[in-house]
Amino acid sequence: MNGYNEYKTKRKKLVRHLISSGYLSKPEVIDAMLAVERHKFIPRDYTLEAYSDRPLPVGNGQTISAPHMVAMMSELLDVKVASKILEIGAGSGYQAAVLAEIAKKGEIYTIERIAQLAKFAEKNLKNCGYENVYVIVSDGTLGYEENAPYDRIIVTAGAPKIPDALIKQLGDGGKMAIPIGDRFYQDLILIEKNNGKIIEKTHGGCVFVPLIGKNGHRE
Ligand code: SAH
Repeated sequence: MNGYNEYKTKRKKLVRHLISSGYLSKPEVIDAMLAVERHKFIPRDYTLEAYSDRPLPVGNGQTISAPHMVAMMSELLDVKVASKILEIGAGSGYQAAVLAEIAKKGEIYTIERIAQLAKFAEKNLKNCGYENVYVIVSDGTLGYEENAPYDRIIVTAGAPKIPDALIKQLGDGGKMAIPIGDRFYQDLILIEKNNGKIIEKTHGGCVFVPLIGKNGHRE
């Protein structure tokens, strides 16, 4: 049996690796990645792999992103302590937990299209004590109008283009991280909205499961 300390040691080692590989540098993101127990966000069969830097299956053909991708997106988003955040693609809830560690006084709304995974994410988040994360079953390509505008938006599935609704629901001064490309390969894009103007920057290639929905890929 792996004890609490063994997981903690593995987590520290992974974080050290992410720092030395250049994926992590911001203190608040480092602290968040040290705090969130990734092994509590994956099915039992894979817990021994929890602290290797790779994606893992979470059921329904979906995956929890690799830690370096979570680190990279969290750093790019530059989350503040009171940020209101929208995530598209709850999956296991792990990325939302990392954001919740940073935005301790903020709110995180995370949208998932597969009800079974939404339940999984909700259970994991509750189990780890995150109370400012709300999991919603819906098509995230339409955003989540109810609580817009958002300070930060993160899309953790590969989109064919930036959904208009997400641009609209991003507040002024806001940032959005989104992988854009085809079903098999995407570029990680960071979007900033300043005085209504949209600035886009590319931050390298990545591979996410497809974003499926009205303004995404077809099923
Ligand atoms: N952020 C997750 C990993 C997400 S994997 C984590 O930390 O574990 C991508 C997720 O996006 C999958 O669970 C998939 O079902 C979901 N997804 C795909 N298209 C979606 C859509 N239109 N709306 C909401 N969720 C979507």
